[in-house]
Parts: sequence; C-alpha cells; structure tokens
Amino acid sequence: MASQKNDALRDEAEALRQNLREWGVAYYTEDNPVVEDITYDKAYQRLVEIETTHPELVTPDSPTQQVGDAIISDFSKVTHDIPMLSMGDVFSEEELAAFNQRIINNVGEPVSYNCELKIDGLAISLRYEDGVLVQGSTRGNGSIGEDITRNLKTIPSIPTKLTKPLTIEVRGECYMPKESFANLNKTREANGEAVFANPRNAAAGSLRQLDPKVTASRKLSTFMYNVASFDPLESRTQSEMLAELQELGFTINPTYRVANDMDAIYAYVDDYQAQRSELAYGIDGIVIKVNSLPLQRSLGATVKVPRWAIAYKFPPEESETVVQEIEWTV
Ligand code: NAD
Repeated sequence: MASQKNDALRDEAEALRQNLREWGVAYYTEDNPVVEDITYDKAYQRLVEIETTHPELVTPDSPTQQVGDAIISDFSKVTHDIPMLSMGDVFSEEELAAFNQRIINNVGEPVSYNCELKIDGLAISLRYEDGVLVQGSTRGNGSIGEDITRNLKTIPSIPTKLTKPLTIEVRGECYMPKESFANLNKTREANGEAVFANPRNAAAGSLRQLDPKVTASRKLSTFMYNVASFDPLESRTQSEMLAELQELGFTINPTYRVANDMDAIYAYVDDYQAQRSELAYGIDGIVIKVNSLPLQRSLGATVKVPRWAIAYKFPPEESETVVQEIEWTV
C-alpha cells in the first residue's frame, strides 16, 4: 500500500518536473511564457511539498535545485564567481512569520529587515574596474550568464563610470516601464508582429538583441539593489548600501523601508499592494531582506536561494486571474 502511494508521488513529482522544465524553457530561454506565473508557482510549490516530505524523490536536475535555465543564446558566456541566486517565496502572512522565526532561530535574536519592491524584470550584474563599467551580464543559470555589455551600455540609468574608482560587481533588476511596454506592443501590433506577453519578457527579449540599437529603442531602465561582495563598500546594512549605490551613480528604487518587526513588514506589504497599479513599473511582490550585511553573509545560501531574504508574492492582478483559471491544468 505504502509503496503504491510512493509510486504515485514519484510519478506526480516527475510530471511536475516535466511541466516546470517545459514552462521554464518557454519563459527563460524563449522569453515567451506559455502559462501564467501563478500556474508555475503552484506546480513548483507542490513539487517542493513532495520533495520536502520525501527527500528520496529529489533529483539533482529538479527545477527546485537549479536557478533559471540552460543558456542557448549566441552571446558569449560569463562565469559568475559569486553565483546569482533565485529567491524563496511565500504567499501568506503565516509563511512570512515562519521565515522570520527561522531567522530568529538561526541568529538567536530578532533582527531588522529592509523591505523592497520586487521589480518584475530580470536580474543583471555589472562589473566595474577602478570605477569603469567593463562587463554586464544576465543571471543565466546562476553560475553562467550571457555577456550583454554592449546592450546594457545603451540604458541611460546604468553609469559607465562611477563617482569613485571602485572595483565592484553590482547586481539589480532591468525592467521595462509600463509606458514603454504599452508603446512597444502598440507598434508591434501595428506592424503585424507578435506582442510580448508581459513587461518582464519584453525586457528579457530586448536585452538579448544582437543589435544594441534595438535594445536602446526599447526604453529599458534599472534598479540596482545588491553587490556580489560588500567588501568594497563602507555600508554595513542593506539600507545603507542602497544609499551608497545611489551615491556611486546607480538608480535605486527609493521606496525601501527598514522594518523592526512583523507589523512594520505587513504595513509595507499593504501599502504597496494598494499602490501597485499606480506605479510606473511592474512589481510582483515585496522582498524582505535581513538588514545587516554581515548577518546576510553568515546566514549564507542554499544551492538556489539566499537564507537571508524572502519574496512575498502578490496574487495576480485581476486581468491575469481569468487566464490563469483557464490554463490551470496541474
Ligand atoms: P523570482 O523572480 O521569483 O525571484 C528572484 C528574482 O527576483 C531575483 O533573481 C531578482 O531578479 C528579482 N528581484 C526583483 N526585485 C528584487 C529586489 N528588490 N531584491 C532582490 N531581488 C529582486 O525568481 P526566478 O528564479 O527569477 O523566477 C522564478 C519565478 O519566475 C517563478 O516564481 C515564476 O513566477 C516565474 N516563472 C514563470 C514561468 C511561466 O511560465 N510563467 C516560468 C518560469 C518562471
């Protein structure tokens, strides 16, 4: 009986992995998702549930053990010496409280968090030598990304020279503002071209252009929020780091807020869930990060996600829900 149940779970896990892989290729490699994010997220959560309760069913190639997807583009490859990770996500206040409890158990006392908007774009990494931009890349599979330096140099919010001669690798999000997205799709429709499914995929497709002039015409922007290593900086907290990145010449998202308890985090979540549709760029949630950078370092990461941060995902916006209900098949 027990073995029959295990067989059924093994089959279910394999079917989920198969679906997630196919959807991942469409999303990460082809910039053309075939299901809504919530469909992907629900299948992913179910797989995590099975793999957590039955660790013997985890396979090394499971999407739960990997960041992004394999890279098959023509761009030359960049090795990320310090991996670019994904992020754990939660969908309720209870799960958020459980994340906080894990941190407290680990650190031994309550900590402060920095709350940030989760920008709906794609992660990029910018490497500066003596203050000069030398390389820009995508996250790729976390260890190997694509060299898109020429394209990133066309984006006005990315400084080619910093205000200080630092050697540093800065990470953040490249996104397409809602207005650029609407204009782009209007033009594509008028020209009889396929429209992009959402601003995230439009941004990803625009960054992967072989002609930088096309990227420039897409009116992309960036918010930087992280560094591969904080050693070159003076800051010792996430919130100080954002201010320091701004002083260096980066564009940062100004909405960040330090929260000293869970109520302050929930208040931030509520504020931005309410304002979501009025923002000039898409967000799909809130990111909550341990504010102390030395604590971030000591908490470390799993193979896939940092232990010091979590994304609280918003439910899909009204229009997306209808599509999701039709397409939900898992
Ligand atoms: P993710 O997008 O859920 O979260 C991690 C990413 O958040 C980081 O890599 C970073 O790029 C971004 N981010 C934005 N703002 C940030 C901030 N302030 N601080 C730190 N990071 C910030 O994870 P992922 O691995 O990039 O993608 C997985 C998600 O992609 C899934 O949860 C799903 O919603 C979506 N997805 C959808 C499909 C589909 O078919 N629709 C397929 C694959 C993945």
